[in-house]
Order: sequence, then structure tokens, then C-alpha cells
Amino acid sequence: MALTHNLGFPRIGAKRELKFALEDYWKGQIEEAELKSTAKAIRKHHWGLQVQSDWVPVGDFSLYDQVLDTSFLLGNIPKRFQGNSGSDLDTYFRVARGASSHGDGKCSHAGEMTKWFDTNYHYIVPEVSSNTAFKLNPTQLLDQLAEAQALNLNCKPVIIGPLTYLWLSKVSDNSDRLALLTEIISVYQQLLDLLATRKIEWIQLDEPILVTELDSGWRAAFESAYHTFSHANIKILLTTYFGALQDNLQLACKLPVAGLHLDAIGAKNEVESVADWLPSNKILSLGVVNGRNIWKTDLNATLSWLQPLAERLGDRLWLAPSCSLMHVPVSLQAESQLDTELKSWLAFAQEKLEELDILKKALNLGIPAVQNELNANRRAILSRQQSASVVNPVVSKRIAAINRHLGNRRNSFAERSAKQKDILGLPVFPTTTIGSFPQTADIRLTRRQFKKGEIGAEEYRKRMQEEIRNVIRQQESLGLDVLVHGEPERNDMVEYFAEHLAGFTTTQAGWVQSYGSRCVKPPILYGDVYRDRPITVDWIVYAQSLTSKPVKGMLTGPVTILNWSFVRDDQPPEQTCKQIALAVHDEVQALEQAGIKIIQIDEAALREGLPLRKAEWRSYLDWAVEAFRISANGVQDSTQIHTHMCYSEFNDIIDAIAALDADVITIETARSAMELLKAFEQFEYPNEIGPGVYDIHSPNLPTEAQISELIEIAAKHIPTNRLWINPDCGLKTRKWNEVVPALRTMVEAAKKLRETKEFQES
Ligand code: GLN
Ligand code: ZN
Repeated sequence: MALTHNLGFPRIGAKRELKFALEDYWKGQIEEAELKSTAKAIRKHHWGLQVQSDWVPVGDFSLYDQVLDTSFLLGNIPKRFQGNSGSDLDTYFRVARGASSHGDGKCSHAGEMTKWFDTNYHYIVPEVSSNTAFKLNPTQLLDQLAEAQALNLNCKPVIIGPLTYLWLSKVSDNSDRLALLTEIISVYQQLLDLLATRKIEWIQLDEPILVTELDSGWRAAFESAYHTFSHANIKILLTTYFGALQDNLQLACKLPVAGLHLDAIGAKNEVESVADWLPSNKILSLGVVNGRNIWKTDLNATLSWLQPLAERLGDRLWLAPSCSLMHVPVSLQAESQLDTELKSWLAFAQEKLEELDILKKALNLGIPAVQNELNANRRAILSRQQSASVVNPVVSKRIAAINRHLGNRRNSFAERSAKQKDILGLPVFPTTTIGSFPQTADIRLTRRQFKKGEIGAEEYRKRMQEEIRNVIRQQESLGLDVLVHGEPERNDMVEYFAEHLAGFTTTQAGWVQSYGSRCVKPPILYGDVYRDRPITVDWIVYAQSLTSKPVKGMLTGPVTILNWSFVRDDQPPEQTCKQIALAVHDEVQALEQAGIKIIQIDEAALREGLPLRKAEWRSYLDWAVEAFRISANGVQDSTQIHTHMCYSEFNDIIDAIAALDADVITIETARSAMELLKAFEQFEYPNEIGPGVYDIHSPNLPTEAQISELIEIAAKHIPTNRLWINPDCGLKTRKWNEVVPALRTMVEAAKKLRETKEFQES
């Protein structure tokens, strides 16, 4: 008999219940007890949605981030947050969000945040050093287990494995992370022993680093950790996801654990060899339903390869999603406005669990037991394959006609730069922002009313123009040099474009957690993409009409639109990306024709699309760079192209960044104190750079000294005539009373530096 289990459920909630409770708590509107009881209710509800699984996950829930939870579980709390006033929960949120002052007047910067493997989820990077001492702190996990056990659920705790935890950590003193191995093993050992006393049969230890390239040190560390754990009185499901094991396949198969989970979507071609190599006493869990995308599984096709395997494996086969379902929305139920045909092609978390259930029944009870469900699934799969709304011959023609010239600027950066300097007349250290300004309650209300048809297009335009006027006025009075229109019309930098391009659809409530309480609603890219009307031109032209300073046109780049959408699985991503690139190209051309002198194309997600294995980077970067170039580079020399990237480490992709040939790149650097700039210096990055001089993700206001210090560090790495001054990222999540003083300080710092002789000369 095959069993089913789930690796993790989206904790934010179908209506983002967790988000709202968190934000109320941070605003001081609810007490800790209320936040905790809301969290408990959410867990209970979510477990209730998973009861058809034979094992439900416990410990996958998190108030902010599962990696941060693991840090707390292991007692690894950064020194700067230890011994502060307030509850443990407050300490937890301080690590996540930074603390302006906690009793002693000191500020502590938040833990660094970075992308979880190649997903759009961000985790808080654990900090370790040779002095790190782990100490098991299992209260929260045990409480949640007790909650689940009280509901009579078959619980399977879910924990990030020790090697993946260390691998994700950042060392502050250049020591070797693996030097902490013995210590971390012993804490995990204590945890396993403890869980064994709580009537726990299975624990899921997530080790997704097994799908990356590991050197011999890490492989040996796997052996020694899991050999130690093999003495525990609990069964370990070693869990891998986000791709194929490749050269780690043998290692994963032979570690002395009771079961192995394989991502049978990303590593479909390894299923047979894992089944062959896995010792016959072990469970094989197969992730047969895609946990990262929203398409229905072709159940009939899956059964055709799964059935023989199920006969062979018998009780040893478990079925699961390929990875945690936290990367997809909770349920399709809320989607009343989706086209019914398109909706029939989709499956969110709840529907994916139903798919697993159907597969299980088909295997255990025979096909006839679920014949109706399988027939319905076949119809849906066929309807998608044959739909006329998916393919468009005009788009294919344009793609076929792409040639090298389309992605090339007319002349070199040096020539362009001279012309741009003439036309724009900017001072040294030009100041600008990344695009968005605070999304106030008013703005959101207006957008909502317009969407619901409560206000007409004219009224909507009037109100948005008023917002734009206000943003332009504010920027002029702050003395910024290059202005933006503020993006009030955009709910989200990707969704907005998806709403205006053919080939995409958007959902009403398809929320996915991005970090902490922040959620995104990835659009669904189902068909050939094209632009049939201008998207941003009216807003930007209006903004430019209000000021004599240059206003940057603001677009999202093709790679980011691709990487932040749920994409087609019926054609290669590079093909889809080229289609988006042509659409953005058309918009860039239209902005230029409308007289816009600076156009920014955000590629916030270029780096996160990198394959997990280095061997696959080149081909990704080649098509990603080409897509950007197609979108951006058809302009006149005098038109200045900016790009923006956040949370990126550039060291290893700097050549690709340079190959974009953007005139100016603004990047996130403040949290890492300009560390990233070294890459730009060593590579001798040829164009202009705006390293973010303050962290917009934290409510802390930057001081002039902090900003000046960062600019001075930047000026050591980058010639001052190529240096821009800007925040780290867009300001939409901040409040006006944070933005105004922060930008005022930033502009002041720039002005002072302009007067400094040393900088005038260089
Ligand atoms: N232009 C966008 C904004 O300012 C960029 C956001 C981002 O990089 N994530 O909001
Ligand atoms: Zn950004």
C-alpha cells in the first residue's frame, strides 16, 4: 500500500490571516497572546486540510521564516540580540526585522535576508563563527507537536537538516562552517532523542543541498552526521528537493536513514536509478506533484510510470509533492473570476493534496476506484494541450525573426555616456530612488475601487495623477536629481505588467509568501506573450510634464517577469522569456518616442533564476542576458538605460551583469556594507553604479553619518564620476514619515560630499 504525506503547507493562509495578525502585532494593536492564538488557529485549520494524508507535517509553520526558526531551535541567536529586554518572540522579530532601539538605545541591524535556493522565498541567513555554541531550544516545536497530537494527527516533524543549515549560514570570521559539525550533530542528536520520547515515528530532515554540487568535505559531513543519527530511536526521512541528485545520488541512497524523498518532478529521470540503488529496507518517497507550479498533474501519465514502480515497492512507496507547498497558494476555491477553462488546468496546495489522494487510491484500490476523477483530469489536460488561447502564430514569427542587432546598442558606453551627460546635465553623485513611493491606504483603496468597478476610468486616472503630482512635488522639494512617478498604479511590479500583456492571467487570492509578512501574487503565464497596447507611457509622460527634471520610465524586465510568475511547463523558459522581452522592447520604444530620456528596467530576479548547479549557469545567463538586451537596447545613444537588482551577489555573475550593457545599475548593498562592490571593482565594471546607501527593508531611519560612510566606502571602489546615490530598493513598503526624512538625509549626504574637495577632484 502506498502512503501519502506532505512536506509543508503554505502557512500564510488562504486570506493571508498570518500576515495581518503579524502586522497588527508589530503595530502594537494586538498582544502576543492574540498573535499566538491566531497562529494556533491557522495551524489547526491547515492540518484539517491535510487529513487525507497519512502523515501531516508539524514544524513547517513559522511566524516569519523556517530558517530563523531553526536558528532559534538550535539556540543560535546573533550576539547583538542576546540579553535584550522583551519576550523571546520580540527577540525573534528583532533578528528578522532589525531593532531601532531595545532599551539601551543601540540599533541592531536585522539578519541578512536571501533567496531560498532558486525560489522567490527569502530566509534569514544564520550567522555563525568559530565561537558559535548551539544549544537545543525545542519548546516551540514541542508545543506545536503537542497541539497536533491533541488533534489525533499522525505527526511528522519537519526540520531543516544540519548540513543544509550550516551550508546556508554565513560565517563572520572566515572560519570553516564544517568545524561546527560535531557540535551541531550533537544538538540534532538531542532533538531526535527527545522526539523519540514523544511517540514520534518519523522525522523529515530537509537536505535540499543534496541537489547542489558538494565537495568531498560536505559529502563526508553527510556521512558522519547521518551515521550518528542512525542510532536514534526515530526514523529519518532524508528529504531532497528542487532538482536532481546527480553525483550525490549514491550518497543519498546509502546514508543510513529509514527513507529518502526525491523530487520526482525535477529529478524524474533519476526515479528508476534511485529505486534500484535504494536498499530494500528503505522507504522511497516520490514527489510526483509539482510543489512549485500551479498546473494540474497529468495523473494518467503519472500513473502509467508509477504503477509498475508501486508494484515493485509495495509498502515502501510514499507519495508527496515535490517540495513544500509553501511556494503555491492555498486553494483555488477563492478564484471565482478565473476563466473556467483556464481554472480547470490549475491545482493549488489543496488541489495538489487531492491529486495525491487520487493517485494513492488508484495505486492501492485500482483505477476503477477513481475512474471519474481520472477522466476529469484527462479532459483538463487535453483542454490545455489543445487550447487556441495558448499559441499565437504572430508571436512565433517575431521570435523567429530575432537577430543579433536587436539586442545591441548603437554605440559604446563611452560615446553614449557623453551624449547622456550633455542632455541630462546631472551633478556628480546624482541622487535618485528605485521607483516606488509609499503605497498608502488611499492608493490601495483607489485601485481596489477601480478594479471592482466602483469608480470609472476617468476618476481613477484623476486620483492617480494626483498621487503622481504629489510624488513629483515631494521629490522636487527634497532636491532629488532624477525623479520617478512613484508607481501608484502598480499593485506589484510583475503583476501589473502581467495584467497588461496577453498570455498572462492573474488571480484574486493566489498569495505566496515572499518574506515575513510579505506576500506576492505571482501571475500565471499560460500562453504566448505579446503587448497589444502601451502600458506605462501615459503615467510617465504625465509625470514628466510636471517637472523640468528628468523622470525615469519604470519597467520590469523580462527575466524578472518570468521568474516571478508561474510559468508554462509546455515550452522551455528561454522561449517564454524571449516573448516577454519583445513585449518590453515595444514599451521601451514607446517611452523613448514619447520623449522619456531615462528608462529603468528592473531585473530584481535575474540572479535568483540561476540554476542551483554552476554547470548550468552559463546557458541560463546567456538567454537571460539576451532577453534583457532585446528589451532594452534598441534605444538612441542619448537615452539612458538603468537597471535595478536587489539582494544580489554579483561576484560570480559580474560578467553577465556587464553584458547587459545598461548605462546605470542600481543594486542592494547597504545591508552587507558595500561588500558586493568589490566585485564591481575587481571586474572594472565599466558603466555607472548606484549602490544602495540605506536599507529600505527596515523601519530604522538612516543617519547622515551612516549614509556618508557607505558612500565613502563605495567611492573607494568606484570612480566618483560613475557613482549614483540611491536607496537599496523601492519605497513602497515604507511610510511617508519614514521616506521623507530618510531621503532628506540621503540628499544632504550627497550634497555635502559634492562639496568635499577630495571627491570633486577624482
Ligand atoms: N521599481 C521597483 C520599485 O521601486 C523595484 C522593486 C524591486 O526591485 N523589488 O518598487
Ligand atoms: Zn530592489
